[in-house]
Formats: sequence, structure tokens, C-alpha cells
Amino acid sequence: MISTTARDALKAAGFRATKPRIAVYELLSSTHTPLSADDIHKRIGRSGIDRVTVYRTVEAFEQAKLLKSVDLKRGAVLYEVKDANDHHHLVCRQCGIVEDFAGCDIDKIAQNALKRSKSFTSVSDHSLELFGTCTSCTR
Ligand SMILES: [Zn+2]
Ligand SMILES: [Zn+2]
Repeated sequence: MISTTARDALKAAGFRATKPRIAVYELLSSTHTPLSADDIHKRIGRSGIDRVTVYRTVEAFEQAKLLKSVDLKRGAVLYEVKDANDHHHLVCRQCGIVEDFAGCDIDKIAQNALKRSKSFTSVSDHSLELFGTCTSCTR
């Protein structure tokens, strides 16, 4: 079933709502952890969508700000749907589970950084991921 929200999101970003684009966008909107292009291909490849198409699609989506790329130190860039609210990730070093967290206080950090900087006048973007140990791995 094709949800109208995926179609609407794609159209709003200037994309034609093709089957591969809808599949990529819907997968990422229904998953709660960031996925690499390979992860995405593994999950939707059965419907005849090839790897190159997945790579091109996530890159185009990122440029259009539909997706955000995340680096969780796994050797591959991961992608997630960009939402209006800023959030980051807590990652378990042992088992790899990922949890979102919000409230990074970026305005304050950016202000401090700019105050101390000799060569910067503005900050437009930021990334922050926290690595640690989850409850089940602590037991
Ligand atoms: Zn864990
Ligand atoms: Zn933030």
C-alpha cells in the first residue's frame, strides 16, 4: 500500500513519486534507526530495485533535505528521515542498538564556539552522536 504522506513529501521536495523513491522513503519513515544504502537495498531489493538506484535516491534525498546523514562510526553513512525537531543518537558500543535523544543545547554551544572563533561568523549545521553501553549489555 502506498501512503499519501510519502507521495506528498516527495512532491513537496520536487521529486516525481516513482516506485523506488516511495519504497526508500517509506522504509526510512517506518524504521526507527538510521540505515545505510546497503541496508536499504537489502530490505527493498526484492521488489526489483537495484543498488545503484538506492544509492542515487538517498543522495538526491539528502541534497533535497528529505533525509539527514548520520555517522555512527560503522564505516558507512547512514540515513534517516529529516524531521523538524533536532535529535541525535545514543549508540551501544557492544550490541549496536541506537536510541534517539533530543535537547543538545546547540544554540548555546554554537554561540560559545563563535565567541571563541577567530575565523567563523556563523554555524548552520551540527552533528552529535553519543557512544556508550546499553542496559542489557551492562547486566
Ligand atoms: Zn547493547
Ligand atoms: Zn542538536
